[in-house]
Amino acid sequence: MASRVIPVDPFVLVIFGGTGDLARRKILPALFRRFCDGQMEDNSAIIGAARSDLDTAAYRQMVREAIVEFGQEGGSCEAGTMEAFLETVHYVSIDARGETGWSELAGLLDKLPGEERVRAFYFSVGPSLFGDLAERLHCHGMAGSEARIVVEKPFGHDLGTAKALNKTLAQHFDESQIYRIDHYLGKETVQNLMAIRFANMLFEPLWNAQYIDHIQITVAETVGVAGREDYYDHAGAMRDMVQNHIMQLLCLIAMEPPAKFEPDAVRDEKLKVIRALEDVPAKDIVRGQYLESDDGSKPGFREHVQNPESTTESFIALKLHISNWRWAGTPFYLRTGKRLKSRTSEIAVVFKDAPHSIFGAEAGRHCNILTIVLQPNEGIELGVTIKEPGPGGMRLVDVPLDMTFSEALGPEAEFVPDAYERLIMDVIRGNQTLFMRGDEVEAAWAWTDPIIAEWGAREDTPVAYDSGSSGPVEALALMHRDGRRWREIRK
Ligand code: NAP
Repeated sequence: MASRVIPVDPFVLVIFGGTGDLARRKILPALFRRFCDGQMEDNSAIIGAARSDLDTAAYRQMVREAIVEFGQEGGSCEAGTMEAFLETVHYVSIDARGETGWSELAGLLDKLPGEERVRAFYFSVGPSLFGDLAERLHCHGMAGSEARIVVEKPFGHDLGTAKALNKTLAQHFDESQIYRIDHYLGKETVQNLMAIRFANMLFEPLWNAQYIDHIQITVAETVGVAGREDYYDHAGAMRDMVQNHIMQLLCLIAMEPPAKFEPDAVRDEKLKVIRALEDVPAKDIVRGQYLESDDGSKPGFREHVQNPESTTESFIALKLHISNWRWAGTPFYLRTGKRLKSRTSEIAVVFKDAPHSIFGAEAGRHCNILTIVLQPNEGIELGVTIKEPGPGGMRLVDVPLDMTFSEALGPEAEFVPDAYERLIMDVIRGNQTLFMRGDEVEAAWAWTDPIIAEWGAREDTPVAYDSGSSGPVEALALMHRDGRRWREIRK
């Protein structure tokens, strides 16, 4: 099945922080892939903007090197495409906090030839600069009603700072112009989750507390906090992962069907989930910090952040409940951590056992598990119980039902575009469905803040866990005491 690529309208995308890590690793390679596939046409333009004193030729060289180093394999890219892509790239040296470069940027935007273009400004700089950028775009006449801004995470440090940032942005941009990005929402399987839930009759009738025993969400990383030590010691896993990425996954799993697949319809339903979250008692939370690796080659968390007193968590597991008709009684178990045994993200929907086994006690207990794997290999797996082949009576065995998309959809389905490719194209199309609305972000902080405040009030200290493990044993106990267990963190 050939994938259909519909070109987007011509656009100019200004990347503030165009020399930074995110721009080089993700944003620029994503744009290049969309160019190769013909979705971005050569009448569009990209403007890198940062303080570094570069000219356009030097920036183009940097972009070329970034694409060679970080560009994805796959798709179709003809010879000469790189040169044509680089022709669309420009650079302006600019200071978000000063006056340098702003007139040049405004001049370049006016000078670029061609018809009306969509104008988007990607804030790929540290969060302390988001407000400055919005204000300067306004002062220099670039915040017109057609402009769109893309705001990276973290969006605030708590409810107060998120509200203040929302207020600053709202002074210059309408909510319909603001794209708060969470790259998890751009992943193919996350969108497939909505297709599976809302385009099939099979799952939705079972999607409730009556049939689902519990849901597990795991986001495991192998890396430590190297390169982000200072930020991370002030954030921790709760702020860095749970408040945003995991909260978004939880919303998509738990929300009611929206009336339409339209931005506000989807975001209204997600908001209802966050508002229905119950407070989480201390006994249902486990926080951890990784220890030095066995061979001593990788430092422990406290050495990493150079803070022997640090009480910040690099791992968190928690059990939560959603207070509504659909989910009353079904727990959601979330866990995320650094320096775990493998890099994997998955959602496991664990259905209840059959109410009565006609095969007797010796057949054991079995349940269906729907697993949505977000990384490393995006896909969906359904565990079903069948008879073990061969003579010797009715022995039951759990096997995965093969749902490999590439077999059903052809070899093109093997190439899964990076989340940033989809999300940037959605910005250009003006589709906010996969971006967080201001009230969603605030509601997520409103749920998160009291939990974090409570740790401070009772001077909670995270427990230690081994590097390369599945996390602290206390996290295993969190489920064991409910008669359940975490799924293996898959390799
Ligand atoms: P980074 O590597 O430190 O890059 C920061 C960029 O901002 C550089 O291009 C820097 O260039 C520019 N910059 C700094 N101060 C500036 C100023 N006063 N005026 C104009 N430009 C300025 O950071 P990053 O990792 O790319 O992260 C960028 C944003 O994305 C952050 O908000 C981060 O939290 C978020 N994010 C990053 C990742 C990731 O994987 N890297 C993932 C998720 C979210 P000059 O020094 O030349 O000015």
